[in-house]
Amino acid sequence: MGKALIIGAGGVASVVVHKCVQNSDVFEEICIASRTVSKCDALKEKLDGGKTKIHTAQVDADNTDELIELIKSFGPDVVINVALPYQDLTIMDACLATGVHYVDTANYEPPETAKFEYKWQWAYKEKFEKAGLTALLGSGFDPGVTGVFTAHAQKHEFDEIHYIDIVDANAGDHGYHFATNFNPEINIREITANGRYWKEGEWIETAPLEKKEVYNLPEIGPKDIYLLYHEELESIAKNIKGLKQIRFWMTFSEKYLTHLKVLENVGMTSIEPIEFEGQMIQPIHFLKAVLPDPASLGPRTKGKTNIGCIIRGLKDGKEKTYYVYNVCDHEACYNEVGSQAISYTTGVPAMIGAMLVMNGQWQKPGVWNVEEFDPDPFMDALNKWGLPWQESHNPELLDLEIEAKESSR
Ligand code: NDP
Repeated sequence: MGKALIIGAGGVASVVVHKCVQNSDVFEEICIASRTVSKCDALKEKLDGGKTKIHTAQVDADNTDELIELIKSFGPDVVINVALPYQDLTIMDACLATGVHYVDTANYEPPETAKFEYKWQWAYKEKFEKAGLTALLGSGFDPGVTGVFTAHAQKHEFDEIHYIDIVDANAGDHGYHFATNFNPEINIREITANGRYWKEGEWIETAPLEKKEVYNLPEIGPKDIYLLYHEELESIAKNIKGLKQIRFWMTFSEKYLTHLKVLENVGMTSIEPIEFEGQMIQPIHFLKAVLPDPASLGPRTKGKTNIGCIIRGLKDGKEKTYYVYNVCDHEACYNEVGSQAISYTTGVPAMIGAMLVMNGQWQKPGVWNVEEFDPDPFMDALNKWGLPWQESHNPELLDLEIEAKESSR
């Protein structure tokens, strides 16, 4: 059907490339372009020889002119941005200049401070409308599938949605005492930041990891879950009319948090430079050097992830609770595409979003979040392309829901 330019060659990009090649009827030709071209070439070497024609290119995605030149020479129908959040705006500018649709998995971040806000990208709405182009934001798992799950619930399960709890559980075990699934600096910053959730039009801030619940997750069992801020809260709170509250929860084990606390207490997570044997170093950089490389965890991670939405609201005048989720197995992902479930659950929805934009089902001039489109073709594609979803119409009344009910009184 067409051509896609994939920007980035990291964990998520690798899954996107594998999935595009599996879906060669849609992705007839792809170009993998990143800062380090050898990583793009390695992917091409692994996957060449099938129906999808693979090209590679070197590009600095911070540079709009370089991007424009590359897009003009390859002529894609869509650009899939799976580089880093810092490149979102330069890539959107290049898409506008060349008349190409845009898809990403994470909102733009100014390099100095993490804000987790959509305002910079939403400001492009009119430009994309005028150009007749679609920009699809946040087509990963969370953000991404969690928004599609919400739209699915809105379309098929509820007349009014009142409460949403997104629960992201990773019960993967890599056998190390302590390691982070992705960049330790970003990971640690996320966990040590204040939590935040949306209630009745207001953002309510919590101390870091202040709110904890135990949730009994299907196929995983009871886990400690902690309230964090996550970027899809902003778009879902805006797009689901009548919503009263939305929160995001993530699992952390006692062991992980104890290690983190000790490292924090002794100063190892600090970014303040110190002198060490005649050299200035940031303790967190030293910590990063002694911790396992996140990319090396793939082959040794066992266990499953479970990410889903617990939704409460009204159907036919009656209160109702609905739970929709996906369970993904780290080892199965590794065997299929050479990456663990964290990259897999992001890369598959990125491919699906790009496919729906390319085939016209999700084409609409402007800048959109996933929950603003018809969820049906996306939900079907999840089942087909490796992230089947499950649902429960009468989940037990769990602590989370009891608390939500109490706080609504
Ligand atoms: P990685 O760090 O593994 O890969 C990032 C890639 O981007 C690398 O290949 C890197 O190149 C490349 N890159 C960075 N800067 C530039 C640049 N200026 N020009 C060209 N290429 C560049 O990250 P992941 O694959 O884990 O994550 C990719 C994206 O997915 C991120 O935006 C992340 O936030 C998002 N994500 C979204 C999730 C979701 O559920 N929505 C979940 C997980 C991730 P080099 O190899 O040279 O470093």
